[in-house]
Amino acid sequence: MFQDVHKKIIISLKDEDLRNGSREATREEMKNRLDAIKRHPYAEDWAKEIKEIKRKLLLDPIKSFEDFKKSFEGEGKYIYFAKDGEEAKKIILKIIGKKSTVVKSKSLVGEEIELRQFLEMNGINVYETDLGEFLVQLVNGKPAHMVTPAVNMTEGRARNVLYPVIKERMDDVVSMVLGVRGFMREKFLSADVGITGANALSIDTGSIVFITNEGNGALSSTLPEKLVVITSIEKIYPSLKDAIKASIVQTVYAGFKNTTYIHIINGVPKEPKNGPKELHLIIVDNGRIGDISLKETLYCIKCGSCQLSCPIFREVDGAWGEIYTAAIGIPWTAITGKISVARDLSYFCLQCGRCKEVCPMKIDIPNLILKIKRERF
Ligand code: SF4
Repeated sequence: MFQDVHKKIIISLKDEDLRNGSREATREEMKNRLDAIKRHPYAEDWAKEIKEIKRKLLLDPIKSFEDFKKSFEGEGKYIYFAKDGEEAKKIILKIIGKKSTVVKSKSLVGEEIELRQFLEMNGINVYETDLGEFLVQLVNGKPAHMVTPAVNMTEGRARNVLYPVIKERMDDVVSMVLGVRGFMREKFLSADVGITGANALSIDTGSIVFITNEGNGALSSTLPEKLVVITSIEKIYPSLKDAIKASIVQTVYAGFKNTTYIHIINGVPKEPKNGPKELHLIIVDNGRIGDISLKETLYCIKCGSCQLSCPIFREVDGAWGEIYTAAIGIPWTAITGKISVARDLSYFCLQCGRCKEVCPMKIDIPNLILKIKRERF
């Protein structure tokens, strides 16, 4: 396996287009992050609060799940606990049924368990509706970054990827976005099921909070008759206020001065024509609860700052990893994927410590990576 990672890095290093795309985008994203922090100076204190809240809740995550479940359940709403990806996928397939069309909004947990690939293998038409995810789907690839999945794709490459599908002249980014928008409209209207992720869940109100910068989240979650939300157990918070705070901290550190949409879903509408008739929420563990030595990873709110600050990521983007790539992606891979892959990735860490410096949750990422590295020898 180590040789596979090595090979991927060598291929990436030889790809000038990809390296230029990666360098340019990471520079830009880090600048956006600083601008966003300046605009929201309270985010640093909120991050400290969220870390303390998470520390307490993660002492007993099953209790948090049970408390949330009691508050969430109601008419038209169903909740499931999936111990791993296989279980989550089986549950989702049963809900969706075969021969469906699905419009999907971004979900990192969905990527983690390779949900789209699984549904496609079962004959379901799946459309990634987030522009970056759609590009990743078209090249049959994996997201290069947690927040911006196609961060490494230059405009020229994106145009070449989109043209065979959109079949319209696209001279600039605006025309590309408009082309994809037109293509997706029809899918939203004909889809049977919408799938989204969630940034946070709140125990006091039983709410699901998710944030998007494109209108796709609203359309995926309101137009189809069934809505499936997939998320993970470390995203449960005591109150709606905490859930919103955590989501805002994530977007600020992800470099968004103002996130376009903050969605709060509390249930299904009484009048079925006004939205989905059924809401299914799947909460996935996938190794999170059982891992004691890397538990600090669960404080991560997936803002992606640490990846952008990683000198290896900047040079060769995320093409060398699995679902989660550089920095905190290495412990995330150890927890949710294969430890052997995480060990191979850990070997490329320089222990420079930049990831820890930029992390809003002050996670000691170099130390987590060192623990994984030590297990190798
Ligand atoms: S480890 Fe910290 S910087 Fe990295 S994604 Fe998680 S919260 Fe963001």
